[in-house]
Amino acid sequence: MNTIISKIDINDIDKNEIKKQSKLLAEGKTVIFPTETVYGLGANALDEDAVKKIYEAKGRPSDNPLIVHIYNKEEVYNLAKNINEKAEIIMDKFWPGPITVILNKKDIVPYRTSGGLETVAVRMPSHLIAREIIKEAGVPIAAPSANISGRPSPTKADHVYEEMKGRVSGIVLGGDCNFGLESTVLDVTTETPMILRPGSITKEELEDIIGTVLIDPSLEKKEDNKKAKAPGMKYTHYSPDADVYIVYGNREDTIKKINSLVVENNEKGLKTGVMCLEQNKDSYNGTVVSLGNTLEEVGSNLFDALRQMDKMNIDIVYSEEFSTSGVGQAIMNRLLKSAGYKIIKA
Ligand code: AMP
Ligand code: MG
Repeated sequence: MNTIISKIDINDIDKNEIKKQSKLLAEGKTVIFPTETVYGLGANALDEDAVKKIYEAKGRPSDNPLIVHIYNKEEVYNLAKNINEKAEIIMDKFWPGPITVILNKKDIVPYRTSGGLETVAVRMPSHLIAREIIKEAGVPIAAPSANISGRPSPTKADHVYEEMKGRVSGIVLGGDCNFGLESTVLDVTTETPMILRPGSITKEELEDIIGTVLIDPSLEKKEDNKKAKAPGMKYTHYSPDADVYIVYGNREDTIKKINSLVVENNEKGLKTGVMCLEQNKDSYNGTVVSLGNTLEEVGSNLFDALRQMDKMNIDIVYSEEFSTSGVGQAIMNRLLKSAGYKIIKA
């Protein structure tokens, strides 16, 4: 497939390039564009044939529903019904931004978009390029992360260019995504809202404004969440080609353990990578990729680090464990999945 590439500077948005890409969306074709979370692979959410192309381009299982992206809040009333007060509060407070709400869908939303469910996931992104694209397309845009199903989500222009060129009709190269982790998914169809996927808007932030928020219990276990309520959470995800392990314990033990594993791997002829906090990077042998100093930085660098490991042909990656407070919950959720829940005690 011929892919039309547009390079767009977020600080000086070229409206002609936006128009070119939005036209493709309006014609029922697929376009990749940046958002504040990760790059999204979009198509008209109300057009079944267009949505089918998303699943094909990603190789995504058809029972894994898509998030519908809108330009202004009013559009949510065309897509969903019986929206309760807590949902209104969340949308008013956090939109545009990295939170997706699960609502009862109206008939206009095809089952292909909702993965056969009676609910629909809706988000209003804040990224200026994403907003322009959606506005200009004139239709709500279904857009999962723009990676081949199972791979780490793309957070930089290079990631989508390398992986998706030829698989979609258009790609907007628009720099790095801000958060680097996918949106928080919050089910607001029930009396007490429940987080189905942790993201950069945290449980604490939500509870500050709507009171008790539950977390899908299957997400809190350090084991495979086959029973997860968000269909997508049960699939293998975020996996680089390298085999990933999380090593946990105190700082000193973790460093000792990882360094001894690096030696063992070297003897077997295996290339080893280490992902760690910036402050620890000089303590490790092997190929070290720093994830940054703060949890926010770790969140925005994680998927890129996993992709870097593949580029360097690393066979085995060891990652430090991170705190699960605040955005740490989302980080550990993604890391555990990318590791296939393989954890080693230091
Ligand atoms: P992504 O494809 O990376 O954008 O992820 C979207 C996430 O939202 C996946 O985990 C989906 O399973 C989840 N999701 C989307 N729609 C729904 C829905 N109606 N109910 C529950 N989870 C949903
Ligand atoms: Mg995804």
